[in-house]
Amino acid sequence: ILLAGLLLSIIAAFACFLALLLRQRQGKEIQLGMKRGEFHVEYQPVIEASTGRTYGLEALLRWTHPTEGRIPPDAFISYAEGQNLIVPLTRHLFQLVARDAHQLCQIIPAGTRLGINLSPLHLSYPTFRQDVLDWLEAMPQNHFEYIFEITERAMVDDNSADEIFHWIRQQNIKIAIDDFGTGHSALIYLEKFKFDYLKIDRGFVLSIGTETVNSPVLDAVLNLAQKLNLNTVAEGVETAEQALWLINGGITHMQGYLFSRPRTVPQLVDYFTDRSVS
Ligand code: C2E
Ligand code: CA
Ligand code: CA
Ligand code: CA
Repeated sequence: ILLAGLLLSIIAAFACFLALLLRQRQGKEIQLGMKRGEFHVEYQPVIEASTGRTYGLEALLRWTHPTEGRIPPDAFISYAEGQNLIVPLTRHLFQLVARDAHQLCQIIPAGTRLGINLSPLHLSYPTFRQDVLDWLEAMPQNHFEYIFEITERAMVDDNSADEIFHWIRQQNIKIAIDDFGTGHSALIYLEKFKFDYLKIDRGFVLSIGTETVNSPVLDAVLNLAQKLNLNTVAEGVETAEQALWLINGGITHMQGYLFSRPRTVPQLVDYFTDRSVS
């Protein structure tokens, strides 16, 4: 038995070592990927519910690995967070967005909102403010209005969150609470912090018109948001039925495949030129 136990712990230690090695390799791959230019940004239009007009864009990072192909952001963002690479990766994203933005300026109306996803880890990082200031300087001036999309995870440490949100606002950047309804004690945060947008997770939108005709939780969320004077963005809207339900419920903005998938810069050019013709 003793021998078997020993053998087992050796195997376990070996497995741990392998996992560590694999993670390190992936971390290296992200660093290399940035150097080799394997990342690009796609932009998904956000629609204003009352007019049907394009209100803004959400920037979504994409990684095309030379041998693995497309790696989904849900996978590499969490690796980057675990490997202390989220700050360099976000700086890289800022650079890519700034580069795209100078091109997009020509075709995108002034005042268009630009949403950026930020990792909660970055918010409390010492260089955060300088990283943001550098990015703002690299962007075309007075063309976009910025929104930082932040998940509830960032609000666990109340005091530092308060301070950082305040600073973000001072830079004239709006704050959206992302993936609303997937974390914990979200309602408390809604009262405590002043957000500008509440992004309703796709999971809620999926429930529309499936099990029951009405979605009481979503209904309650929309009512609450109205009372708090918050803009509401529904994510993952795929069907006209969902859009109609949301509009009736008082949603202010929508985003999803029904309107557009995330687009590369050339695809975005097509999107905006098609629109200005009609
Ligand atoms: P998210 O912020 O909730 O982004 C929305 C996700 O929903 C995107 O997935 C988008 O492509 C997808 N989506 C949009 N409309 C539809 C639809 O109608 N149906 C379906 N099925 N999906 C839809 P994506 O691009 O794979 O991103 C996944 C997550 O990765 C994002 O979730 C965000 O949390 C994270 N992420 C992406 N880019 C960045 C980034 O630059 N920085 C950070 N920190 N996180 C990022
Ligand atoms: Ca988001
Ligand atoms: Ca989201
Ligand atoms: Ca999400």
